[in-house]
Amino acid sequence: MCTPQGMTCLSNMSVLSTALLENGMQEVTFLKTPIMATYLLAWMIGDFDYIEAYTSGAFDGERVLCRVYAPVGLADQGHFSLDLAVKCVEYFSRLFNIPFPLPKLDLVAVPDFAPGAMENWGLIAFRTYALLIEEYGSQDRKQEIAATVVHEISHQWFGNLVTMEWWSDLWLFEGFATHLAYIVVDELFPGWDIWSEFVKNIQEVLKHDSLRTSHPVEVGVANPSEITQIFDEISYMKGASILRMLSAWLGQDQLLLGIRKFIHKYMWSNANTEDLWDTLAEECKVDVPEFMNKWTRQTGYPVLSVTELDESTIMVRQNLFLSTGDVREEEDNLIWPIPLGLVTSSDPAPRNIMMHTKEMLLKVDTTRWYKFNMGQTGFYRVSYPPKALDLLGQTFGTDQLNAANRVGLLTDAAALVASGIAPTSSFLTLLKYFEDEENYMYRNSVIYGNILVWAEVSLRLQELLAVWLEQPTPVMDGLKEVQRRLFTKIVKRLGWDFPEGEDPSTGNLRAVAIRFAGRAGDPEDMSAIPPDLRFPVFEIVLRTTQGTDEYDAVVNYYRETFIPAEKVVALSVLGYGSSVELVRKTLSFAMSPEVRTQDILSAIATLRSSVVGRAELWNFMRHHWDMLYERHFGDIGFLDYLVSLSIESFSTLERYQEVQAFFANKDTSAYDRILATCLEGIRMNILWLERDCRDVEQWLIANEYLVRPTDENHGASSLAVPSLLDSAASITTPQADVCIRTVIAADRHDAVNEEVGLNEPLMFATGIVDTSVQPSGQFYLQETGQPTCMESHVFLNGIGQSFDEQVRQVHQLRQDQRQHTQLEVPSHQELPREYNPHNHAHDPYSSRQESRPRTLEREMELLSMSGDYEF
Ligand SMILES: [Zn+2]
Repeated sequence: MCTPQGMTCLSNMSVLSTALLENGMQEVTFLKTPIMATYLLAWMIGDFDYIEAYTSGAFDGERVLCRVYAPVGLADQGHFSLDLAVKCVEYFSRLFNIPFPLPKLDLVAVPDFAPGAMENWGLIAFRTYALLIEEYGSQDRKQEIAATVVHEISHQWFGNLVTMEWWSDLWLFEGFATHLAYIVVDELFPGWDIWSEFVKNIQEVLKHDSLRTSHPVEVGVANPSEITQIFDEISYMKGASILRMLSAWLGQDQLLLGIRKFIHKYMWSNANTEDLWDTLAEECKVDVPEFMNKWTRQTGYPVLSVTELDESTIMVRQNLFLSTGDVREEEDNLIWPIPLGLVTSSDPAPRNIMMHTKEMLLKVDTTRWYKFNMGQTGFYRVSYPPKALDLLGQTFGTDQLNAANRVGLLTDAAALVASGIAPTSSFLTLLKYFEDEENYMYRNSVIYGNILVWAEVSLRLQELLAVWLEQPTPVMDGLKEVQRRLFTKIVKRLGWDFPEGEDPSTGNLRAVAIRFAGRAGDPEDMSAIPPDLRFPVFEIVLRTTQGTDEYDAVVNYYRETFIPAEKVVALSVLGYGSSVELVRKTLSFAMSPEVRTQDILSAIATLRSSVVGRAELWNFMRHHWDMLYERHFGDIGFLDYLVSLSIESFSTLERYQEVQAFFANKDTSAYDRILATCLEGIRMNILWLERDCRDVEQWLIANEYLVRPTDENHGASSLAVPSLLDSAASITTPQADVCIRTVIAADRHDAVNEEVGLNEPLMFATGIVDTSVQPSGQFYLQETGQPTCMESHVFLNGIGQSFDEQVRQVHQLRQDQRQHTQLEVPSHQELPREYNPHNHAHDPYSSRQESRPRTLEREMELLSMSGDYEF
C-alpha cells in the first residue's frame, strides 16, 4: 500500500515493512493473511492515536497485542473497550480451545461509519459511538459498547475462522455472536443483570415478527441486492432468542461444548446451519434439528392462551400471534415445540415441559399464582385470564418473580392489548401494580433489574401515548398523569443529587424517573449535570420551555463537546423542541454539514414525540425525498430507518393513505420490507384506537385520572350543557387546523332534538371534523381553567351544508345506528376468537354493551378503502 509518509496504515495483519519513497510517499507491506472470506479483508489509512495492551498469555503462553485506534485526541476514551477486548480474547480462546488466530487485534473508531461495527478479521471497525466512552460515561452506554465489542470479537472465531456457507446462514452467525455476547457480558459484569436487558431488547423483534410482513429466520438469498435487507432484527435478535431457548433446553454448558466441537470441525472453512444442528445433536443426544427447524423456518411465533377449567386444571393452547389480532384459520395451522417453563407459587423451579401439540391440559393450583416461560427464555407470549394476571400483579411487591419475569409480563400484556386480544384497560390495571414494585425496590435496595423494569414501564406507556397522541387533550393528560404518578414517587425518594460512592444503578434509575416524571431543571450550567442526567434534563427543559435560548444552548453544547456520545445525546434532545419553529430548525440542522451522516437519524428520531414534530418530519421527508434517497442509497440501514422514523407512529387513515400515495410511484426495492411493516403497523394503530379509545377513557375516569364534568362529584351536571349551547362556544379538537367550532343556539337545539328523537344536545361543526382523529364524537369545551368534556354529541362533516341538510344527516345517521345496533352480534365474547375464550369476558366495561370493532372486518374495510397494496 502506498500512502503519504506519516499516515497510520492498518490492515488485517501486522505491518511487515515500511519503505520511504522519494516523492514523500511510503510503501507499507503487511504479513500474508491466512485463508479467509473476501468480505473480511480490510485496510484503513488515517491520522490515528492509539492505546494498547497485551493479553496475559495464560491460555497458551502467546500474548496477543490489542489496540484501540481513535481519531487524534480521542484514544483516551478507548480504555473501557481495550480492557474488555483483552478479556474477550482470553475468554474466547479458552471457550473454543483455540488461540486467537491472528498476530494482533485492532479495534478502530471510525468517524463516519453507517453500520454499528464490522468484524474484519484482526481489524474491527466501529462507529465512534460504539467504541469510545469517557471514564464516567453512563452505564447504559457501557452496556451497549460491551455488547458490540464482545459480539465483534466472538466473530473472530465464529464467523471468521468458521464462515457461513452462503448468506442464508447469516442469521446463525449473527444470532450466535449476539447470544455469546450476552453470555460473556453476564460473566464479566454479573451486576448488570444482562439477561433482563436481553428480555427488554427482544421486544422490538417480537413486535416485528408478529406482523404478516415478517420473514423466517432462515431466508433464501438469491440476489446480492437482498443481502443488506437481511441484516435485520430477525437475523440478529430472533436468531439470538431461539438460540437462548435452545440453550435453556439443552443447558448452557452443553450448548457451548457443542459449539466448540463445531468450530474445531469446520475451522478454516465454511459451514451451514444443518452442520451446526447435527454437531449439537451428536453432542447432546437430542433431536436438535426437529426443534430448531420449526423455529427457524416458520414465520412468526405463538401466543399461549391459558384457560382455567377449574381450581386445579388449566388448558393451554398455542396459536400464531399476529399483532393485528386477526389470524385467519388457514394461517393458524402451525405448531411450534414450546418449552413451557412453568412455575407456581409453591414450586419455583421451572417444570421443563415441551408442548408439541395445539392444546394441552395441565394440573395447576389456580387459586394461587403460576407463570409460564420462567425467566422469559422462550420466544413466545402468554395470555392469562384476568384473575391469574391479577395474582401475578400482586407478586410485584415481593421477590417471587425477578426483573426479567416482570418485564415479560408487562410486555406481553402491552402486546396483547395492542393486538386486541385483551382490552387496553387490562394493561393499565397491571401498570398500577408497579406502584408496589416501587416499594419492593426501595426495601431491597436498587439493583439493575429494577431499572430495566421501570424503563420498560415507561417505554410501554410511551407506545400507548404515541398511538393516542392526537386524541383529545384531557385523555392525553389523563394518560400522562398515569405516568407521572408512577414516576414522581421515585424521584421524591431518590432526589436530584448523585452522592459520591452511590451504586450506579441507583443513578440510572434516578435518570429514568426524572425523565419520565417530567420535572424541569436548570439548563444553564450543563457541565454541572451528571452524565446520567444530561439526557433527561435537556429533554425536560426543551419539552417544557420551547424556548429558543434553551434550544440554542443545546446546539452550542453539541458544537463544543468533543465527546462523541455527548454529541449524539445533544442531537437527539433537539427533537423535543416541539414548536413549528424549533422543529424546522432541528430538521435543517440535522441535514447541515455539522451533523455526520451516521448521526442524522438520532437528530430526527425524537421529533416523533410531538404532533407538530411528527407532521413536519413527514412533510420534510416527502419534500426532500429525492435528495435523501440519492445521498444515502448506499448507507446500510439508512433508508429503512428514515422511512420507519417518518411514518411508523401514524394512527389515522388519512396518514395511511398519504403514505401509500407517496410511495406508490417510487422504486421501493431497497426498503420495501420496512415500508410494508410500517403500513401494517399504522393499520394496527388505527384499529387499536378505534377499538379501545373508549375503554381507555373510561378506565381513566374510573381510576380518577380524568375528570368527567357531568359527574356530580365534580360539581358540574348535564344541566350545564344547554346553557353552553345558548351561545356560540369555541371548542377544541385534536385537529390543529379545524379547532374552532360553534354550537347551535338553544332553540334550534330543541327543534333538532325533537325531529331526531334524541334527548341529548347536539353540536354542529363549522369545519370538517376528521372522524379518524376524533372517532368517539366527543368535544372538549375550553373554559377558563380546566378543559372539560361533553359527551355524545352528534357531529357532522358539515362545512358548506345548510342547517336542514345537516339535520337530515343526523336523522339518517341515527337511524343507521339503530339498525346497526339491532343487527349486531350481541356481545364480543361470541366473536370468532375461540383461541382465547376468556377474551374480554372481564372487561370492566363490557356491561355497558359497547361493541368493540371486529378487527378482521374492520381490517378488510380499511384495506378496501385504501386501495391495493401487496404485502
Ligand atoms: Zn455480527
